[in-house]
Amino acid sequence: MHLTIMEKDILLINAREAWKNCLNIIRSKVTEKGYRTWFEPIIPVGLENDVLRLLLPNQACYQQLEGHYVDILAEALTSVLGQNAKLEYQIEQNSKTEIHTQKIEPIKPLIKQTFDSNLNDEYTFDNFVEGDCNRMSKAAAMSIAERPGVMYNPLLVFGEVGLGKTHLVQAIGNHVKHKYPEKNVYYISSEKFISQFVDAIRENAVQSFNKFYEQIDVLIVDDVQFFSGKEKTQENFFHIFNALHIHKKAIILTSDRPPKDLKGLEDRLVSRFSSGLTVDVQLPDYETRLAILEKKITTGNEVVPHEVLQYIAQNVTTNIRELEGCLISLLARSSLEKRTIDLALAREVLINITRNKPKEASIETIQIVVAQHFDLTVEDLNGVSRKKDIATARQIAMYLCKKLTQNSYKIIGSKFGNRDHSTVVHAFQTIENLCKTDKKLKETLSLLEVQIGQR
Ligand code: ADP
Ligand code: MG
Repeated sequence: MHLTIMEKDILLINAREAWKNCLNIIRSKVTEKGYRTWFEPIIPVGLENDVLRLLLPNQACYQQLEGHYVDILAEALTSVLGQNAKLEYQIEQNSKTEIHTQKIEPIKPLIKQTFDSNLNDEYTFDNFVEGDCNRMSKAAAMSIAERPGVMYNPLLVFGEVGLGKTHLVQAIGNHVKHKYPEKNVYYISSEKFISQFVDAIRENAVQSFNKFYEQIDVLIVDDVQFFSGKEKTQENFFHIFNALHIHKKAIILTSDRPPKDLKGLEDRLVSRFSSGLTVDVQLPDYETRLAILEKKITTGNEVVPHEVLQYIAQNVTTNIRELEGCLISLLARSSLEKRTIDLALAREVLINITRNKPKEASIETIQIVVAQHFDLTVEDLNGVSRKKDIATARQIAMYLCKKLTQNSYKIIGSKFGNRDHSTVVHAFQTIENLCKTDKKLKETLSLLEVQIGQR
């Protein structure tokens, strides 16, 4: 290899020339394919004080340089720019213009990068409201974040969608990055992992793919249920998992279901996944929902009356993402339509969002609607009269209570003037049988159901 550039000229050459000279050296040492794929797309963007700045097209390119070509790169760079040469990487994010600047690191010894961890820095423990539904998971997550790899390895957090799994595991990552800046933290969804792996196979780069993963100190893989049916990926992940585990690197996983229900995943993988600590996140109760809403509000500057927050917390019970969604819609509506945020506006927003999910009716509501329909009073329904029209209305009301609420026969009986549970069973069966032949009754029941739903 011959060098055309002398030490004293270094300050004069620009980044392009320096990189061109590096490329000449690199080209003679790597395959044509490797050169084309990984080196050609790199753009030199600056050279200052022995620091050559390169713009890499993507994270995969960085992984390749770090994992596969680091020695060749270092040698070329030293030859061209001298012993003090350093590299600075910028990685183009999703081919948008936004540029992520990587930390400057000496190229020798081995380029050690604090690479892009893929974390959203808004997902912190501070922002994560604790309740009975997630206390255990949060405690586990926090102790891992304090001492990654030491305890509970791996951690598997499972629970239904929108209950805070991603937030919690990313909070671990953010905490570790803050507390141990030298540690490599990497967050990835299982879908992304699968597509990265497929790319690596196509580009004949599985080895460096694995090498990249094996230098991670805290690996967070979100939604592992998507590994289902992907045998090759599972096999490869199994090896990465073991390599990390044996070196006491922290592994944190989430899943939308408990391990036993992870169908389509190899047994040995499921058993590795559940070999540490398995915790779940559950639906938050009213107080936790309200606390979450309050937290979201204090992070913005909006003024939302407390009764409105209470109203949302009472009515949105399915998951936290939806809870948040309601609040966001409410703020958006108020700002777009220039309306003050009050209960009326909250009701409108909620009707739109929860339109397809009728709230469970109460026994009291059903009694009122049925009584009105038959020109009776609720007292008539609950009373002792056995007059035919009253008795039938009572049976219809009982039937609807059983059909539209989760209450037991016993409870329904108790709310109808303390009747026995067998009376309710009898009423339910009678009405159900009658429905089969009595078209008019069937129509009446549908009408009543609609009226009850509108309450
Ligand atoms: P999952 O991954 O379980 O589907 P996410 O972590 O994406 O759920 O949570 C959905 C949304 O709810 C996120 O915006 C998250 O910040 C918020 N969230 C979930 N749990 C909490 C919590 N305990 N405190 C505050 N925000 C939460
Ligand atoms: Mg998630």
